[in-house]
Amino acid sequence: MTTTAPFGLLLDVDGPIASPIERRIAIDSILDDLLTLGAAGIPIAFITGRSDAFMREQVIARLVAGGLDARAHVFGVFEKGGCWAPVTPQGLGALEIDEALAIPDAVRLAVEGLARERFADTMFVDEAKHVMISLEASTDVTPAEYQEAQSRYQDEVFALMSGLELGVRYGDREHPDADGEVPWRIDPTIISTDVESVHLDKDRGADRALDWFAARGITAERWWSAGDSRSDYLMADAVHARGIPVTHLDVRPADGMLERPFEVATEPGLVNDAAGAAFLRRKVSELP
Ligand SMILES: [Mg+2]
Repeated sequence: MTTTAPFGLLLDVDGPIASPIERRIAIDSILDDLLTLGAAGIPIAFITGRSDAFMREQVIARLVAGGLDARAHVFGVFEKGGCWAPVTPQGLGALEIDEALAIPDAVRLAVEGLARERFADTMFVDEAKHVMISLEASTDVTPAEYQEAQSRYQDEVFALMSGLELGVRYGDREHPDADGEVPWRIDPTIISTDVESVHLDKDRGADRALDWFAARGITAERWWSAGDSRSDYLMADAVHARGIPVTHLDVRPADGMLERPFEVATEPGLVNDAAGAAFLRRKVSELP
């Protein structure tokens, strides 16, 4: 039996849910509204580059403390699709990891070691990642200081990985491996540098979530994806590819909105978690 919800949510976390400055949920109505939507049977997936550990601490624990309804359908995809788990009233369920896409240990040691030895004043290693490498901006440096160090660091990582004869891509630079393949990429974000499989992305994460809901007999008449990065549009791409109606909410449209064959929305005058909060509040008011 299939249950069709009036809508479903695919949510990036840093940006629409968590404040990119405070790196936690700073607007309480966001939690209240997620709990209300969950209890109403709205399928909700968090699709994030963050680790499961970050999500446990900053999001899941607060949903559990707020009394997540046992009938809610909530799913988490972490590390851009590299691992995933259901979210239950008891907390995060069993974590599954896509080992085939994991960064080799020797590469992790070298890339993280470089950050620890030479860039510790501007960035730190996210120790909780299973599949990808993430270097996050220290909270006590200015964005300008971080960007300067981040750019130097990324140049050095590209040189280091090329030197190890790994196939790697960084911006428009590419170094294929001995087989002519480029399995890895260096991906800068506003607060981090990720080194990861080229197969990790938000569309993969969205597919994982849609499959999980479908296996439980849950679908929606329309999905809404929400995110602050250009790559977050990929969540809506994955829904659209299945022929299901979708709208993407861009909470940082100043970065340049993308042309898509489906509706792209903004919250006029609002960005980041303020936009996310306004969006969720309206979704609660639209519940049947
Ligand atoms: Mg984001």
